[in-house]
Formats: sequence, C-alpha cells, structure tokens
Amino acid sequence: MRTKTVTRYYCDHCGRGGFKKPSMARHEGVCFSNPNRTCPECEDWGDVAENIKVLEEKGLDALKDHVKGCPACTMSAVIQSNKRGLSHQEAYVRYDDYKEDIDDYRNEKYREESINCGLSHPDS
Ligand SMILES: [Zn+2]
Ligand SMILES: [Zn+2]
Repeated sequence: MRTKTVTRYYCDHCGRGGFKKPSMARHEGVCFSNPNRTCPECEDWGDVAENIKVLEEKGLDALKDHVKGCPACTMSAVIQSNKRGLSHQEAYVRYDDYKEDIDDYRNEKYREESINCGLSHPDS
C-alpha cells in the first residue's frame, strides 16, 4: 500500500482551497474578500476600504459610479461590507446582477480594446 500526502492551499480571505500553489496565490491577490485585492477586470481599482465606505454611506449605485462600473470592484466591496455588517447586524447588501454585469463589462471592454487597437483610420 502506498500513501500520498498532498498539500492543499487555502485562501486566507475566503477559505477557498486548491492544490496548485500558483493558482491559489493568484486567486488570493484578486479574491473578493481580500482587503488589499487588485482587480483583474479594471485598471484603476482604487482602495477597497474607500469603496466600502462609498457603499455604506451612499449605496450600491453610488459605488458603481465610484468604481467606474467595474462589477468585480463592486462585488468585492459588497462582500466585504456584508462581512463587517454581520458582526453588528447591519442590512445585508445584495448584488444579484453581478453575473450579467460582468459579462456586459467584459464585452464592452473587449469592444473598446478592439477599436483602440484596431487598424488606423483610412482617412488619417
Ligand atoms: Zn479567496
Ligand atoms: Zn475592478
């Protein structure tokens, strides 16, 4: 009989686990629950703490404006705000449109990129 011990890696922020260290490290960096996350969806993600503040003081729509429409930044602020809220019984924020929004956001970004990187205008 042969036994094999495998190391499993867990995200410090949300507890998600995986067997591959590089992919878990990558996940950790962008994890919605990471207060110092970087955002893989937008270039200027700003400060998560600031995003949470906007969400808690002004609401979901104000937050979306603040993060320039990035659904991933919105979602991370919602999740982290909810996590804090649970300890002092505050209203739970829901962001149900995430899936739709991220699809739109990615399509839009792709479209813009293909325009920006496209062929130069024939008249210029
Ligand atoms: Zn995580
Ligand atoms: Zn973002």
